[in-house]
Amino acid sequence: MSDTPHFLPELVGSMSTGAAGNPTVAMMEAAFAHHKMHWRYINMEIPPASLADAVLGAKALGFRGFNCSLPHKINVIQHLDGLGESAAVMGAVNCVVRRSNQWIGENTDGKGFLRSLQSLTDPAGKSVVLFGAGGAARAIAVELAMVGAKKITVVNRSQDRGSGLASVLQTKVGIDSEFVRWQGEYVLHPTTDIVINATSIGLYDADARLALDLNSLRQSMIVADVIENPPRTSLIGDAEARGCRVLDGIGMLVNQGIIAVNYWSGVEPDAEVMRRALLRGLGL
Ligand code: NDP
Repeated sequence: MSDTPHFLPELVGSMSTGAAGNPTVAMMEAAFAHHKMHWRYINMEIPPASLADAVLGAKALGFRGFNCSLPHKINVIQHLDGLGESAAVMGAVNCVVRRSNQWIGENTDGKGFLRSLQSLTDPAGKSVVLFGAGGAARAIAVELAMVGAKKITVVNRSQDRGSGLASVLQTKVGIDSEFVRWQGEYVLHPTTDIVINATSIGLYDADARLALDLNSLRQSMIVADVIENPPRTSLIGDAEARGCRVLDGIGMLVNQGIIAVNYWSGVEPDAEVMRRALLRGLGL
């Protein structure tokens, strides 16, 4: 593999099992076009059994890196040369970066969320209530813990994933974290600073509601939702109606794309160009 400039475009892309990444393709390609980069972002449908061959293929073709989504986020690790700090704690990779001919696994989901959140507040010293304990929740929790959040309460329906995440946060990052089994309407403690929906509740369903006592939302709280489609979830609407500052899932998705382009190319792409392309890609 050579870093010599060549006639063909530089290649990056997404290894997934479906076409869900198409709006992301539009967003990435818009960044390349805007910055006059001779790069292409290619959506590749890779069944789990072909992942090893696909990674070898990407290496052989001189890819600069690639994103990967479920179900590849954990299995891809065995094919890489190393992991970034937070990806190692999470045990999940969504962005592979070629650095000095080594393939390094990073996780940009949590970093993308963090960048959005930092536009409103510094999470250091803050108390966080996090709904969910799947891939998105894990990525967010680890990044928040690593930048010094005071406490993360993980509220999840299933015990195993929820308590597993709280224990990773305690043992691997050394943050105060507790697991609360989600049963009935969750009542937020008044000292909560940041409330995050990192479940899939609300995806493609603007009317879906979290089991949350809305009367416990206070104006001082920041409320964030990872759901990107539709971005205006019930939670976002309910929180805004109570005077909370809110963050939708679009910001997280755009920011993880910005971080990926920067990892691969060193270019800091234009956020607005990517946001507009993503919204168009999502039909919004
Ligand atoms: P996972 O399948 O790994 O996790 C889903 C989580 O949602 C689990 O905690 C699950 O709980 C919980 N959940 C699902 N349905 C319910 C329900 N009816 N009641 C209570 N809890 C429920 O998914 P991911 O973490 O990978 O993704 C979650 C969402 O995040 C996706 O819908 C996606 O839209 C969004 N996302 C957004 C990104 C962005 O950039 N904006 C990036 C990545 C993801 P349990 O453990 O009990 O099953």
